[in-house]
Amino acid sequence: TPSHAALVIIGTGMAGVGLARALRRLGDQRSITLVSADSGEDYSKPLLSTGFAKGLIPDKLAQRSAAELGNELQARVIIHTPVRALDVDNRSILLEQDQVLSYDTLVLATGAAPRVPFSIAPNVAPRCFTINDLDDYRRFHKALGHGPTRVAIIGAGLVGCEFANDLHAGGHQVSVIAPEATLLPRLLPAPLGNALGDAFNEAGIRLCLGRSIDSLAPSSIDGIELRLDNGDAVSADLILMATGLTPRSVLAEAAGLSVSPSGIEVDRLLRTSNPNIYALGDVACVDGVNAMYVQPLQASAKALAATLTGSPTPVSFGTWPIVVKTPLLPVVAYPPTTVPERWRIEGEGGDISALAENKDGRLIGFALTGGCVRRKVELSRAAPSLLG
Ligand code: FAD
Repeated sequence: TPSHAALVIIGTGMAGVGLARALRRLGDQRSITLVSADSGEDYSKPLLSTGFAKGLIPDKLAQRSAAELGNELQARVIIHTPVRALDVDNRSILLEQDQVLSYDTLVLATGAAPRVPFSIAPNVAPRCFTINDLDDYRRFHKALGHGPTRVAIIGAGLVGCEFANDLHAGGHQVSVIAPEATLLPRLLPAPLGNALGDAFNEAGIRLCLGRSIDSLAPSSIDGIELRLDNGDAVSADLILMATGLTPRSVLAEAAGLSVSPSGIEVDRLLRTSNPNIYALGDVACVDGVNAMYVQPLQASAKALAATLTGSPTPVSFGTWPIVVKTPLLPVVAYPPTTVPERWRIEGEGGDISALAENKDGRLIGFALTGGCVRRKVELSRAAPSLLG
């Protein structure tokens, strides 16, 4: 097995694979090796939170196996192999059992890992899950079994709300528990978060908002009882933690690259503080922005492919409203990056638009629910782009 590649990419998520694909599309012929800690299957991560409603078995979500991916990309794909360390002085990475792989150019696309804010006791751990990749989806899918299952989701952000809607649509009994007072608190002003909450409530999803968890304990044969800070109890068969993500920047940090809590610091050319190493996707903080969405990583893959083939191209994220996959009440959000002077909120029932304005009355972000989501294109044209 060759132990050198012109380009080594760590990570086979949408960022790593997207870059390799963009390079081949430009006709680039260099040798590429992709290394992944997981199964290396090519899948679209956003579809993970739409699969339960459609009753999709995990294998249906994998578009290509790692071997098929390697064929398509004319690349070597090493799977189930976590990279242990970077040796930046010798331009090489250390795999298991002292195996060394050297590179001319290294790209870090290691994504972000679920963050679990409290420790989980061993007696309930087998019933607690996170879903951040296809292997996680497989494990959760298996635990759900066939009949309706009581699932307590902890967290009211995008991932928590999407899984709440999707599992409910798949016939499961869903509760959502979160310390914030409204759903999607980082994406929506309160009246719109409340509209989504009303839609969830009407559908029969139980909401325990403004609540934290005092204890998790086994109950009955395979159940768990969650005790909340107001004394309420929630009974569940499974717990799904959707409590945020942390960039996987440990390899970079240990190698002395510049890293912040928002990820590996890169410039608009996606260069890290080491001249032969680049980063993109959920792990990268681009000029101070770590977006953790598909559109920015696709723009990054395209720009980096151009840069690596001799046309230095700074990435621009443009204006990319987030489409939240909650069919019970459609939501689109483009949150402002600075605190707005005011929110101009109009509409009624579930159909609300909220425009964030700065002190000069300029549009700096927006949020839309229900029928108002059709204003997405018009408002995107008027809003400023991020990293324009
Ligand atoms: P990842 O997909 O996390 O890939 C990281 C890769 O690095 C993996 O292959 C992993 O095995 C590998 N790796 C990590 N550490 C090591 C190591 N030490 N050695 C070797 N390999 C390593 N975004 C949207 O824009 N729209 C949506 O609708 C949307 N829906 C989402 C729904 C869900 C349920 C989730 C979880 C996310 C969603 N997102 C959405 C976010 C989007 O999916 C992510 O931004 C994107 O998939 C991140 O891709 P990535 O390649 O950067 O990271």
